[in-house]
Amino acid sequence: MIDLRSDTVTKPDEKMRKAMYEAEVGDDVYQEDPTVKELEERAADLLGKEAALFVTSGTQGNQIAGLVHCKPGEEVILEAQSHIFLYEGAAMSAFAGVQLQTLTGERGALNIEDVRNEIRSDDIHEPKTSLICLENTHNKAGGAIIPLENMKEIYTLAESNRINVHLDGARLFNASVASGIPVKDFAHYTDTVQFCLSKGLGAPVGSIIAGSLDFIAEARRWRKRLGGGLRQVGVLAAPSLIALNENVERLQIDHEHAQLLAEGLQNIEGISLENKVDTNIVLISLKSNNIPAFLEKLKGKGIRAGQFGANKIRFVTHKDISSEDINTALLKIQQVVLDR
Ligand SMILES: *Cc1c(COP(=O)(O)O)cnc(C)c1O
Repeated sequence: MIDLRSDTVTKPDEKMRKAMYEAEVGDDVYQEDPTVKELEERAADLLGKEAALFVTSGTQGNQIAGLVHCKPGEEVILEAQSHIFLYEGAAMSAFAGVQLQTLTGERGALNIEDVRNEIRSDDIHEPKTSLICLENTHNKAGGAIIPLENMKEIYTLAESNRINVHLDGARLFNASVASGIPVKDFAHYTDTVQFCLSKGLGAPVGSIIAGSLDFIAEARRWRKRLGGGLRQVGVLAAPSLIALNENVERLQIDHEHAQLLAEGLQNIEGISLENKVDTNIVLISLKSNNIPAFLEKLKGKGIRAGQFGANKIRFVTHKDISSEDINTALLKIQQVVLDR
């Protein structure tokens, strides 16, 4: 099966499994796991933040950020198609008790004037704006890179209004490799960052959140409350260290594969390419518009992709996909379109 549904389907390779087997471990609730400590230090260093914390998932990391930065009854500004708004089960409203204020962005990037207009004034009728969440790369916008300049403008505005900025950087390393901008430079215009180890970086489980020492101390408390205090977590930190040390530069290959796929798809009659491909995500629509039937037939030919909203299909390239797989996928897609 050539599985292009997501970069979460990557499986830990032999080296990762060996590292898991050999990992030095301790009880991380007592902060005695040396391997997770090493991972957290490495991640904090890469992001240029004081401290970092291993969390079970990207969703948990984003939710912890909301819980630490906000009090119930406050407001969070975020993009209307962001993962936190669309795909986290309204957790930020349910757990942090905040109101979400969505703004429609341009390829996932918030317009600075829209943000300025949405920041609440000091009036007892209004909720306090306490957090702005950004997403880079932006999933729903097809892996779009949010420009550094845009992040800088928003962070500067937020800072002058004493509002925190949290970055949902599930695929921040994709943004970094594709743009040549170090993750540290993106992270510079945020208070806190979450990134996924379990997507393109290829680790089996986990995410990192990073920020100030004070933020991480509170985050550790919230992680425990959410049931995310893990014990001998070194077995998960060990493959994550390999992911960070060895799987970052190779994301460029996934981006090249996405370009190859996009170019091929563009040449197939009945398919429209729906995004400018910045990183590892390709979105298409179909003239026939019968997406479930199309995906079912494709699956029958050994290729998997995912429905993405009402009228799009998403393909995601990742480390378990070769250029040969891309060519095979294109051939099979062509056959399905021609109903062969
Ligand atoms: C995948 C993803 C998340 C959530 O990560 P999980 O580990 O699946 O909980 C958050 N934000 C974005 C943009 C994502 O793509």
